[in-house]
Amino acid sequence: MAKEKDPNLMEKVINLSRNRGFIFPGSEIYGGLANSYDLGPLGTELKRNIKDLWWKTFVQKRSDVVGINAGVIMSTLVWQASGHLENFNDLLVECKKCHMRFRADELGKDSCSQCGGNDFTKPTQFNAMFKTNLGPVESKENAVYLRPETAQAMFVDFPEVVRSARMKLPFGIAQVGKAFRNEITPGNFIFRLREFEQMEIEYFIEPPKTKKDWEKYFDLWLKEIRKWIKLVGIDASRVKEVDIPKDERAHYSERTVDIEFEYPFGQKELYGLAYRTDYDLKAHQKHSGKNLAYKDVKSGKEVIPHVIEPSFGVERTMLAVLLSAYSEEKAKSAKGEEEVRVVMKLPKAIAPYKVAVLPLSDKPALTKIASKIRGDLQERFVTDYDVTQSIGKRYRRQDEIGTPYCVTVDFDSVEDNKVTVRDRDTMKQERIAIAKLGEYLEDKLNA
Ligand code: ATP
Repeated sequence: MAKEKDPNLMEKVINLSRNRGFIFPGSEIYGGLANSYDLGPLGTELKRNIKDLWWKTFVQKRSDVVGINAGVIMSTLVWQASGHLENFNDLLVECKKCHMRFRADELGKDSCSQCGGNDFTKPTQFNAMFKTNLGPVESKENAVYLRPETAQAMFVDFPEVVRSARMKLPFGIAQVGKAFRNEITPGNFIFRLREFEQMEIEYFIEPPKTKKDWEKYFDLWLKEIRKWIKLVGIDASRVKEVDIPKDERAHYSERTVDIEFEYPFGQKELYGLAYRTDYDLKAHQKHSGKNLAYKDVKSGKEVIPHVIEPSFGVERTMLAVLLSAYSEEKAKSAKGEEEVRVVMKLPKAIAPYKVAVLPLSDKPALTKIASKIRGDLQERFVTDYDVTQSIGKRYRRQDEIGTPYCVTVDFDSVEDNKVTVRDRDTMKQERIAIAKLGEYLEDKLNA
C-alpha cells in the first residue's frame, strides 16, 4: 500500500497518535483549548529524541557550533531592534456579518468560511506576538512579549559567547526552545501551533567580499539540512526546496530557501534556510549602543559577521516523521489469516521505546526473569514491558509505535538462559543469551 496514495493517511496518523499516546488535544476535560496539543508518554519520548538527535548532529559532533539557552521573555528592546514589534504583523480582514477574522493574503476572493458572507472590513495590522506584563502592574512600561522565534537571543548573546567560548569565525550558535505566535489560522493538527518549539542555528561568517563567499556556506547548510532529513526519517522524495523570490522574503533576507514537505493537506514549509546578511547584529548594535563587532585575535581587525540561518520546527518535524514512518503491510496472523500490519518505521534513534520485554505468559517463572531483564535494560534504554494479550497482538502493538526490538521470554528461557529478539522491520527472530542481551541491543541500536 503506497502511503503517498493513501487519502486517509492524515486521519490514520492523528488517530494512532491519540490512541497510543503520542499527541492528544490539550485541556480536553474542559472542552479543549483551540489548537493546543499535549504530548503523551510516547510523544514526549519522540520529541526528546528528535531534539537530542538534532543537538548531537549540529552541536555535539561539530567543533564550530555551541549552544545557548535564553529566556522566553527577553527585553522588549530586543523586539524593537529586530523589527518584530513593527513588522511581525499579519494583515487581517474581518467578516462584517459574523466578525470572524482571516488573513488577507489567504482569503483571496472567497466568501467567509464561517457564515458565507462576503462583506469584509479593510485589512488591518495585527501583531502576532503574545503580550504579557513583567511584575504585578499592568502598564505600557511593563509590557513584555513571549519570543516569536529563538533566533534573536543568538544575536543578543553574541558578544558573551565569542568572549566566553573563544569562538573563531566561521562558527554557529544553536538554541532549541519554545516560541510563541498568535497565529490567526492555526491548524492541520500540529502543523501550525501557537506554542511550538524551534531548533535554530545562527552561523556567523566573515563579511563576504563576493557573492560566492556567502553562497558557499549557504550551500553547505543546505546539504546539512538534506542529510538531517534522511537521518531523522523524513521521506526525502516528499521534500521540495523552494527559492523564495525577493518580494516574498523577510525584510532582512538576501536569499531564502524554504524546505517544504508534501503534507496530506498540501506542500508546506517544513524548515527554512536564510542568508540574513549582517542585518541583525547591526540592528542590535545600533539599538543597544554596544559594540557587537567580532575582533580577529591575530589581525585585531573588527568586523560585523554575516549570518546563515537554518531554522527547524520541532512539531513540523514530528508530523513529517510520523507521516513518513507510517506504513501498512500485508501480514499473516498467528492463525494464518491475512491482516494488515501497521508499522511506524521510525529511525531507531528516535523511536520512543527502544525495546519491549514480553514474557510469553504471566507465569511467575517467566515474569521473574522478564522483570529482571527489564530492570537491567532500563539502565541503558527507554523500555516497555507488556504481559497482556497474545504474543502476536503484543508484537503488533509495538510495531505500531515503532519499537525496534521485542524481547520474548519463554519457557525455554528458564532452561537455556536465552531469549528471542524480534526485529520490527524484518520480523526475524534470533535467540540471544540473556547475559549478552544488553550489549547485543546496544550494537543493533547504534548500527
Ligand atoms: P509559515 O510560513 O508556515 O508561517 P514561517 O516562514 O513564519 O512559517 P519561520 O519564521 O521561518 O516560519 O520559522 C522557522 C520554522 O519554525 C518553520 O520552518 C517551522 O518549522 C517552524 N514554525 C514556524 N511557525 C510555526 C507554527 N505556528 N507552528 C509550528 N511550527 C512553526
